[in-house]
Amino acid sequence: MLKNCVVFIFICIFSLPVAAKWFKNSFKVMGTQAHVEFWLDDNKTNTADTQQQVQQLIAIVQNEMRRIDEAMSPYKASSELSLINAQAGIKALQISPELFHLLQVSQKISKLSNGAFDITYASIGYQYDYRKKQRPSKNAIKKALPAIDYSAVKLDAKHSSVRFTHKNVKIDLGGIAKGYAVKRCLALLKAAGVKHALVNAGGDTGLLGDRHGRPWYVGIKHPRAENKMAVELPLINEAISTSGDYERYFIEDGVRYHHIINPQTGDSARKVVSVSIIGKDPTYVDALSTTIFVEGLVAGMKLIDSLPEFEAIIIDNQQTLHVSKGLQQQ
Ligand code: ADP
Ligand code: MG
Repeated sequence: MLKNCVVFIFICIFSLPVAAKWFKNSFKVMGTQAHVEFWLDDNKTNTADTQQQVQQLIAIVQNEMRRIDEAMSPYKASSELSLINAQAGIKALQISPELFHLLQVSQKISKLSNGAFDITYASIGYQYDYRKKQRPSKNAIKKALPAIDYSAVKLDAKHSSVRFTHKNVKIDLGGIAKGYAVKRCLALLKAAGVKHALVNAGGDTGLLGDRHGRPWYVGIKHPRAENKMAVELPLINEAISTSGDYERYFIEDGVRYHHIINPQTGDSARKVVSVSIIGKDPTYVDALSTTIFVEGLVAGMKLIDSLPEFEAIIIDNQQTLHVSKGLQQQ
C-alpha cells in the first residue's frame, strides 16, 4: 500500500506542470543584460496556445527595449538622441513626445538635486572610455565644464522641441533610459493581462504584483565582492535601481574612474560606492539612484527623506550600509 502511495506521489510530482507556469527569458540590449520573468494564470500551460502566448509576451518586452535603444542610444548615429546632439546646439529641433517627456523628467530631477543629476554630463562623459582605460585630461575637463549645465537645455512644450544654448552641449540618457524601458515593458505586460512579472535591465528592476503569493527577492550586489549580495529585499509591486562604482570602471594610480560623473567636476563621483532607490516609478527610481550617488550620503539621504515615495539604501566608502527613514525599524 505504502509502496503504491509512493509511486503515485512520484508520478504526480513529475506530471505536474508547476514549473512550466513561470516563464523566463534573458537577452542583451542597451549595452547590458536584460531579463523578464512572468507567471501565467493558465491551467493548460503546456498547450501550443500557451507557448505561443509566452513567445509573444517575450517578444513584446524584447522589441520595446530594442525600440527604446534605437531612439536613445548615444552609440547609434541614427538614434534620435544622436540627432539632437548633432543639431540642437545650432537650432531648435522638434522631437518625439517620448523623448521630450524624458528630457522634462531629467530637467525636473536636475532642479530637485541642484544639478547632481544632469544629462549634459555627456559634454565630458563621451571622452571617457572605461574599457580602454581612457579619461579626459584636466585641461579637456576644464574646457568642457561650461557645456555641463542642464539649464542650457531649453524645452519648448508647445512645439515639443529642444534647443541647446551652448553649442558644445551633449546629452546622454544612460542614467534614466533603462528605468524608463523597464516601466514601459511592465505596462505592456500588464496591458496583455499579466499580473505577476519582473523586468530587469542592468541595475534597474521593476515588479508587477508579487511572486504569486510571495514577495520577490531582489538582491543588491556587494560592491567589492563579485557574485556576492550585500542584501536581499522582499518587494511587491515596486521598482528598485542600483547605481554602483563597480559596473564600468578602471583603476589608475589607485584612483577609481567609473561611469557616474559629478557634473561639477567632470570627474567620477566618489562619495559612496553603491546607491539603491526603491519606489513605484521605475523611471524616477533609476534617475534618483544616479542622483543620490553623486550627492553622497548626507545630501543624498536628506533629499530621499524629503521624498515620501522613495527609499534609499546607501553603501559608503567604508562599506557601511545606511537606510532612509522609511526603511528604519520603528
Ligand atoms: P547603470 O547605467 O550602470 O544602470 P546608473 O543608473 O547609475 O547605472 O547610470 C549611470 C549612467 O548614467 C552612466 O553610464 C551615464 O550614462 C549616466 N550618468 C553619469 N553621470 C550622470 C549624472 N551626473 N547625471 C545624469 N546621468 C549621468
Ligand atoms: Mg540610475
